[in-house]
Amino acid sequence: MRYRGREVDVEGRVRLVMESALTARDRVGVQDFVLLENYNSEAAFIENLRRRFRENLIYTYIGSVLVSVNPYKELEIYSKQQMERYRGVSFYEISPHIYAVSDNTYRAMRTERKDQCILISGESGAGKTEASKKILLYYAVTCPANDHMAALGDRLLQSNPVLEAFGNAKTLRNDNSSRFGKYMDVQFDFRGAPVGGHILNYLLEKSRVVHQNHGERNFHIFYQLLDGGDDDLLNTLGLDRNPQNYNYLVKGNCPRVSSISDKNNWKVVMKALSVIGFTEAEKLLNVIASVLHLGNAQFGEGEEGETYITTETQIANVAKLLGVDGSALTEALTHKKLTAKGEEMISPLSFEQAMSARDALAKAVYGRTFTWLVEKLNQSLALRVHKGGSVIGLLDIYGFEVLQHNSFEQFCINYCNEKLQQLFIELTLRSEQEEYETEGIAWETVQYFDNKIICDLIEEKHKGIISILDEECLRPGEACDISFLEKLEDRLGGHPHFVTHKLANGKTRRVMSREEFRLLHYAGEVNYNVNGFLDKNNDSLSRNLKEVMCQSENQILSYCFRREEVIDQKRSEMAASQFKNSLMKLMEILMSKEPSYVRCIKPNDAKQPGKFDEVLVRHQVKYLGLMENLRVRRAGFAYRRRFEAFLQRYKPLCPETWPNWHGRLVDGVSTLVNHLGYKPEEYKLGRSKIFIRFPKTLFTTEDMLEA
Ligand code: ATP
Ligand code: MG
Repeated sequence: MRYRGREVDVEGRVRLVMESALTARDRVGVQDFVLLENYNSEAAFIENLRRRFRENLIYTYIGSVLVSVNPYKELEIYSKQQMERYRGVSFYEISPHIYAVSDNTYRAMRTERKDQCILISGESGAGKTEASKKILLYYAVTCPANDHMAALGDRLLQSNPVLEAFGNAKTLRNDNSSRFGKYMDVQFDFRGAPVGGHILNYLLEKSRVVHQNHGERNFHIFYQLLDGGDDDLLNTLGLDRNPQNYNYLVKGNCPRVSSISDKNNWKVVMKALSVIGFTEAEKLLNVIASVLHLGNAQFGEGEEGETYITTETQIANVAKLLGVDGSALTEALTHKKLTAKGEEMISPLSFEQAMSARDALAKAVYGRTFTWLVEKLNQSLALRVHKGGSVIGLLDIYGFEVLQHNSFEQFCINYCNEKLQQLFIELTLRSEQEEYETEGIAWETVQYFDNKIICDLIEEKHKGIISILDEECLRPGEACDISFLEKLEDRLGGHPHFVTHKLANGKTRRVMSREEFRLLHYAGEVNYNVNGFLDKNNDSLSRNLKEVMCQSENQILSYCFRREEVIDQKRSEMAASQFKNSLMKLMEILMSKEPSYVRCIKPNDAKQPGKFDEVLVRHQVKYLGLMENLRVRRAGFAYRRRFEAFLQRYKPLCPETWPNWHGRLVDGVSTLVNHLGYKPEEYKLGRSKIFIRFPKTLFTTEDMLEA
């Protein structure tokens, strides 16, 4: 479909489409899926996506939802001129674009004075983070600046490279995969100038600090420091440049990534830190270096089974960088403190226990420093002038993930996606229904899969998987990962979305290991290996290590490890429950805002341009619920448009409405469609909009404009 007869091609040139309307549609497909003749056909849906993808038209609408296919190449469609084209222009008048969503959301916020949010979803590598960056860029460039906060736009933009350096990593699916969830509020003043920002971060994948799967890397910042830091800096930190010399960087056997320049990114990150007004860079780098040294600490086993440290210089280095006492650190890495009957006892750790204490310390230090970093960014972005404006929230959270081996992290990530899908279903259905009601048009129900049953399976109080996991974590010494699995089997055995190797008839399912449970997610089946679930959920650091850390002279760490934590013996919330509660809060935040959606699709697994893997795309179309979304949107009517917009566009087709209609809008539209010969079954007039049942009607009218 062309509006004003234009489509933008790859080179960014605006090309007037000369062919007849029909050939153009054949070639580039329709720009809104609601205009598909056969809207029930998945094949037609995918064919439309493919045609557009081939023409580098990566964006398509389903009504107001934007579907985006990752092009895996730079398209020249994001320039300042392009931004200008989208400013103040309504959705249907111009080709679909992330800028159109950005602009419409902004205008809705300004005119309706209501907080907005843009929810970006899709699997790992589908383009969520890129989309969120483009939205932010659009606001930073096109919105007026507030005199007091002139540099805020810059700071908003610069928060991204910093967060990505510390929170993103190369995975098999994405060279720049977000390993944390991010929700960012951009606050605007009454004039529409951005004046503040606030970031909420969710569950960083800390296990990556100490282990990476084959072909994956640790967080970018480690490689950036080694590659980009100058000689003096590395000397001071006691580091050499070769990532292969660090145990925490070698597990994935992937020190370099061809698409990434660690050296350049290092410069970008350092500059970003200075724009943000960051003064603690040195302390931060000490922490990063300490983690690398900690990974190289080795233990030996004495004759009596006691564990000692064989790499004393490493530990001395670590202690210096962490700003803690060396002998206290050594002691805490090899011994544990217990309080029994009011008496304090010290007992040696086994070799394995010492290794995991070391890893736990590395994860805690890195994870807490990441949270601290987010707080620092928030201070820098904090609202300083408040003049009763509104907010646009951007949600970019890790996508649904199915790996060869799925663990606790994938469980949390996929649970989060399950929640977002639920929100999407609730809100799109609700808003459709509301629109039909306000327009006074009968609502036709649509069948769709409600994934609430899976959310309940995971999160329900006392019964859900997370509750059972917490229960097991409260039985130290007695419970283990396998007892957790057995409990799941006992309690959830008959659930339609839960499967283990045990079959109902007492036999075993051979294809599943005895350490796995399978969840039938809305997006597909995933097997989770329970190994490590209890530990990761406990996420505990020994009291010994906490005591050492809270005495750190490094201000970042003394902030991250508080004395109160050691004194207060009360058990803190466990990881999964904490995540669940933070998701609940997030859902509340999102529900209080007017949502827009960007649904990202990954066209192939090879991260290559021009490849459209139909099977892969079909799978995503299915689990993103796009067909259902389309059906809901088309429930009865393919298309709707406000009376004034409809009249404005088609008034040249009727002598009574041309050049201007002076009566009531609804009468004008009525006169116009009568003149065009619309049959009563083809359309309905609501209170402010015309609803058109079949795309063909609209195409015919559109073609008359061209003639
Ligand atoms: P994850 O869930 O792993 O964080 P994601 O959905 O955030 O994945 P991105 O990091 O946004 O995925 O995209 C992956 C890569 O795809 C980018 O690094 C970039 O190379 C490419 N890409 C994504 N969107 C675009 C785009 N609009 N134009 C050009 N390249 C893109
Ligand atoms: Mg991302």
